[in-house]
Amino acid sequence: FFIAVEGGDGSGKSTQVEALAEWIRAKGHEVVVTREPGATAIGKRLRSILLDVSSAGISHRAEALLYAADRAEHVDTVVRPALERGAVVISDRYIDSSVAYQGAGRDLAATEIARISRWATNGLLPHLTVLLDVSPETARERFTEAPDRLESEPAEFHQRVRSGFLALAAADPARYVVVDAGQLPEAVTSVVRHRLDQMLPL
Ligand code: C5P
Repeated sequence: FFIAVEGGDGSGKSTQVEALAEWIRAKGHEVVVTREPGATAIGKRLRSILLDVSSAGISHRAEALLYAADRAEHVDTVVRPALERGAVVISDRYIDSSVAYQGAGRDLAATEIARISRWATNGLLPHLTVLLDVSPETARERFTEAPDRLESEPAEFHQRVRSGFLALAAADPARYVVVDAGQLPEAVTSVVRHRLDQMLPL
């Protein structure tokens, strides 16, 4: 079973990923927690290129392809092998992040970004995508460290990213749980658990 956790910067993804993993593990399942970009050796190198301030002027298409390369390596070497042995995989970000950031956030067509990802992943989609929805203003208050290159983007960029995520969820509600991530973390976790309980015999 494959779960993607998506949302803007500061939406609390890592906290939720950990809480979900713990809950599913307690039910006796193997859980693989992973992330994009940067879950593999190649991915770590791509992540440092993508997030370094010196990449500020990178071409938007090149940026989209580097994320796709990270994802291809991630799916081939981490996600598929884990799913094949029956593990539950929880990925902190997946295809939707590309559609939201490189598509809605930049100036590239969402359908084309989705197409690149479809090729990169050989069509692997999550069974459930958890979208942690939060306003960029609330998210910004949560940054404890210096913002990385993307976190320093203007509010309008983050607003477009948020709308991009919500549009994906609205187009395919059966595969999404959209949670107001401005709530306390425990409240967010309980909404997600409720939805997962309906989906799987976990
Ligand atoms: O979620 P995490 O903090 O690891 O993401 C690292 C950075 O990469 C974030 O600032 C995020 O906005 C950015 N990112 C992106 N496009 C993606 C995935 C992540 O711009 N497809």
